[in-house]
Amino acid sequence: MSRRIAVPVEVYRGQITDLTRECLIAARLVARDEDEVVAYVFGEIPDHGNSALQLADRVVTLENGQVSQPVALAQAKLLCSKLDRKDTELVLVGSSSWGLDVGPLVAAFWGVPLVANCQGLERRQASLWATCRICAGKLLVDVEVGAQTAVVLLLPGSFLRKEVTPRATQPVMEKESVSSQEWDARVRFQRWIEPQREDVDITQAEILVAVGRGIERQENLEVAEELAEVLGGVVCGSRPVVDQGWLPPTRQVGKSGMIVKPKLYLAMGISGAPEHVEGMKDAELIVAINRDERAPIFHVAHYGIVADLFDVIPALKEALVARRQEA
Ligand SMILES: Cc1cc2nc3c(=O)[nH]c(=O)nc-3n(C[C@H](O)[C@H](O)[C@H](O)COP(=O)(O)OP(=O)(O)OC[C@H]3O[C@@H](n4cnc5c(N)ncnc54)[C@H](O)[C@@H]3O)c2cc1C
Repeated sequence: MSRRIAVPVEVYRGQITDLTRECLIAARLVARDEDEVVAYVFGEIPDHGNSALQLADRVVTLENGQVSQPVALAQAKLLCSKLDRKDTELVLVGSSSWGLDVGPLVAAFWGVPLVANCQGLERRQASLWATCRICAGKLLVDVEVGAQTAVVLLLPGSFLRKEVTPRATQPVMEKESVSSQEWDARVRFQRWIEPQREDVDITQAEILVAVGRGIERQENLEVAEELAEVLGGVVCGSRPVVDQGWLPPTRQVGKSGMIVKPKLYLAMGISGAPEHVEGMKDAELIVAINRDERAPIFHVAHYGIVADLFDVIPALKEALVARRQEA
């Protein structure tokens, strides 16, 4: 029987997010020949949005003056009213701050299961299986998505590099108008608030030396500062380091911090929790130092060093200084 895999499209500042593209890739990979992948766009399709949307069989734009406002409650309600639950096998939503609102709301409105922290999705014979992170990313579990309909929250980076065969034909484009009754106006979007940037802008740095809880205490940041200086980079950190007040909030990388894409990201004493990885997974080169060989940061690192950072940093600094003197 033909079923639908629905992907609500997240648009941030006029761009379809990379995470939405990942959801469409995942949808494509699990869709059977008879299934239909449908992307739901709230408002107009942004410029440059088409390449991600090419992965869908059908693109539905939901239109009235308000729907593009990032108001999860109203958007989730709208999605539920426009989608037929019985025909829908999956609603695949990116695990961004927007998706973390929209996905659970859809699951709650429909009374269907929510599969969170999903980093893998595959069809094994007739069943759909999800691989999910639990215990802050320290463990993975395989779960069978047994329900007729389910909402899956996909972690960023999970399908980024997965290959998918391009569709031979263009997606069918549809427009659906939204009446004012269909839009829940109880929550209203007001404005974007830009964070203050008095400090170094880590989003612009080419080399980042990132420290996590493994740095142990504020005084130890000095070794990271020294290494950053030799490398010509900037020190940043995970949330616990910022929460402790050892680094300012402007230096926090991750979901509730900055999204960075440096040429080199040196992660030291950072476990690699999904909320941190969300902010740095797109760095060109990731080198992780952690004394726990099972630390999830090694899943995203291009190079991993299983060692004590207090042994590695001085040795690395010494080698860099020696090389500079030779040159
Ligand atoms: C809604 C929400 C938003 C969040 N936003 C963010 C965010 O923006 N950014 C963020 O970073 N986190 C965020 N978090 C927190 C996140 O879940 C993790 O708790 C956090 O990233 C863990 O930081 P960490 O890796 O530094 O610490 P830990 O998880 O405690 O890891 C420390 C690591 O250091 C290693 N280590 C210890 N000593 C040494 C040593 N001497 N040498 C080498 N390795 C050593 C350990 O093996 C361990 O892997 C958020 C959480 C929530 C719920």
